[in-house]
Amino acid sequence: MFDNNSPDTLKLFTNLLALPDIAVTKVSKSSDDRRITFVVKSTCENVPCRQCGKPTRGHGHGRSLCLRHLSLLGKETYIEITPRRGRCGHCNGNPTTTEKCDWYETNNKMTKHYEQHLLFELVNSTVADVSRKEALDYHTVSNLIDHYVEKEIDFSSIDALGILGLDEISLKKGYRDFVTLVTYRIDERVCILGVIKGREKSEVVRFLKYIPRRLRNTVMAACCDLYEGYMNAVEEVFKGKVPVVADRFHVRRLYRKSLVALRKSELVRLRSSLTKKQYENLKPAIALLRKHKDYFSEEEKTILQSLFELSPKLKQGYQFSREFSGIFDSQITPEEAKVKMIDWIERVILSELTCFNSFIKTLRKFEKPICNFFLNRNNSGFVEGFNNRVKVLKRRCYGLSDVTRLFQRLVIDTLGLERFNPTVTAF
Ligand SMILES: [Zn+2]
Repeated sequence: MFDNNSPDTLKLFTNLLALPDIAVTKVSKSSDDRRITFVVKSTCENVPCRQCGKPTRGHGHGRSLCLRHLSLLGKETYIEITPRRGRCGHCNGNPTTTEKCDWYETNNKMTKHYEQHLLFELVNSTVADVSRKEALDYHTVSNLIDHYVEKEIDFSSIDALGILGLDEISLKKGYRDFVTLVTYRIDERVCILGVIKGREKSEVVRFLKYIPRRLRNTVMAACCDLYEGYMNAVEEVFKGKVPVVADRFHVRRLYRKSLVALRKSELVRLRSSLTKKQYENLKPAIALLRKHKDYFSEEEKTILQSLFELSPKLKQGYQFSREFSGIFDSQITPEEAKVKMIDWIERVILSELTCFNSFIKTLRKFEKPICNFFLNRNNSGFVEGFNNRVKVLKRRCYGLSDVTRLFQRLVIDTLGLERFNPTVTAF
């Protein structure tokens, strides 16, 4: 079919390509069967002058262009066009104009459709992956991001912010090079608002103040790490009108960490006091504890029994941890949560356990934001799920050190499926 250049075939391909004001004049296939080239011509009546816009007189042709286009049937597809040139009879000096169609940019080696396709492919992927799959140069794909994706948020495109999220992430191993991820959640969607270099309070304040007042007034809550810099920044900018909420997952990470420390020290003790065989028998129970579950099934409890009998401390630690998770799982008010937490702290202090000491300090210090978690608990998913989405974003940031590029990448991941969807947008 690709070697058949009958008028009917060419007409069929013209309709198939669906590029405005274009007719296919020839179709060819490479000898290795890997690429298809459509030679096309413009069907516009004339070339308008680039200065006055009036029709020009024909003046030969420019250089032929070979533009990569959307793959057809899995084959690399190219469109070849030799633009017409025209000379103006109206303008001074009779300037010449080379015809240019809307579906490609001057000096580009691909059509806009193909560019959009590449951006679509970048969603939840990487520049390296996309360039490899499409057999393109890394910079060709990378440059597209700068061409099509904004370098900072366009506030005019946002109606309301809802819940603001502030998260610190480290871009490299070893927890250096921090950046702050500012997100917002509205209508169950998490979008990126900005990426701030570092996590200094002053920088966060500066960013928050940069948000137009109209949008600042739509913030219902701010969800943060347990980090004073962020909390104080929110307090300073929103003057106490917006509740600061510590996300439960950040809190959970802290008491689970205490538990891990206890588990390790208890296992060291058991390993030295038990025979090798006795310790071996505990392996299934130890493996179960490593799963970081909040609750255990009846069957799992049976497995754990032997270990907990040998280490009452460990049993107690897990019990306290489960109780604390239970508070978070309850449909209660911040006031009720506060009472339950104070009661929990008192009982832990009365016990022999010391592993939760630093967690208790944090709990006392951040009591208000931690209890604020229960504010909107009943009528919305609130921060649930919010953090999981941010976690995915965080993983995607890894290894990117340029804050602007990071922002652009996150825009692609959060909005790209819609923005670059080939069936939605057309040039
Ligand atoms: Zn002119």
